[in-house]
Amino acid sequence: MPERSEITIQEKLSARLRFYEDLGLSPFYRDRRSPQKQLPTSPFESSSTSTEEAILSKAAPKVSAAPNSTSQPLVPVLPVATGPSLFEGAGKIPGETLLKVREDLGECARCKLHKTRNKIVFGDGSAKAQLVFVGEGPGADEDAQGLPFVGRAGKLLTQMIEAMGLQRSDVYICNVVKCRPPGNRQPENDEVEKCSPFLFRQLDVLQPKVIVCLGATAAQTLLQTNRSISHFRGQWMDFRGYKMLATYHPAYLLRNPAAKGDVWKDLQKVMAELGLEIKKNKAR
Ligand code: SF4
Repeated sequence: MPERSEITIQEKLSARLRFYEDLGLSPFYRDRRSPQKQLPTSPFESSSTSTEEAILSKAAPKVSAAPNSTSQPLVPVLPVATGPSLFEGAGKIPGETLLKVREDLGECARCKLHKTRNKIVFGDGSAKAQLVFVGEGPGADEDAQGLPFVGRAGKLLTQMIEAMGLQRSDVYICNVVKCRPPGNRQPENDEVEKCSPFLFRQLDVLQPKVIVCLGATAAQTLLQTNRSISHFRGQWMDFRGYKMLATYHPAYLLRNPAAKGDVWKDLQKVMAELGLEIKKNKAR
């Protein structure tokens, strides 16, 4: 019957689009960015008036805008690498792609977090990104939407990215565990052990120029250490041949706004490594 088959096709299409969104392919069919959106005139600053945004805009160093350039980006857009694409391997592991990693993950039940999750949060952003942010795990908003860093901390991360002169769509964002730990608790060792191989595979496909670990869990997982993040925050380290730097998690910044100056210093190191122009702040 025609009506029935139409519903079936719609359902199939919806399922397919949700799958693409899991892979970070949403711009393929829906551009989340506002077409008129301008870059902020200073780091961590936006037109929003939320409390945390106001706090950040006060503490982050100001960037001086060039004369008559209010509608122009303050810094050049991060050059996009020529590969890999979602469907191409980077060559480090033959045949490996983000698509394959996501397919292998499937409707994962490898650890106990699957029992309480709503959606798997695989990752989001450009499959050609030179910069990858790795967080700890999804929170309530992320679990509901199936996308990383979309809650309050996510808004702050977006501001941090835009303060670097980039858009979220220029980078790739993922987490150590892909299902929300109940009550936003820290992921437990057995959960990290089961889930982190998929993160490592994502990173090996992406082959970013720089990995930024957001918070202790991400840094400790990649570095295989129990040391406190205070021992190595802001220092360049090596993760399987990739340059890696750890900084504070945006959620920590919401609770401790005084730390945002340290985070901005860390991000400036990343900008220098990526060849992004850093406008000197004469006031500091
Ligand atoms: S956290 Fe990772 S390993 Fe555990 S169920 Fe979710 S996807 Fe699977």
